Amino acid sequence: MVKIRVDESKCTGCGDCKFICPVGVYEIEKGKAVPVDMESCCGKTCRLCVEYCWKEAIQQTERHNAS
Ligand code: SF4
Ligand code: SF4
Repeated sequence: MVKIRVDESKCTGCGDCKFICPVGVYEIEKGKAVPVDMESCCGKTCRLCVEYCWKEAIQQTERHNAS
């Protein structure tokens, strides 16, 4: 499981991450990218959004489940 963090100070709301994500994780809300469907994220094997964001606003980190 991974965690996605969008740095709002860098994000321009361009929508490129929403466009490139194959499973529709992102929505653009109030001019910023929001990962609304993290459950669908393909995780470490993908990272398309991280590499595609021209503002380097997206960080993907490991998330360890509590259970
Ligand atoms: S690609 Fe980057 S700058 Fe563009 S909406 Fe997504 S996070 Fe924001
Ligand atoms: S890592 Fe891939 S599946 Fe996950 S949010 Fe980014 S583009 Fe979508």
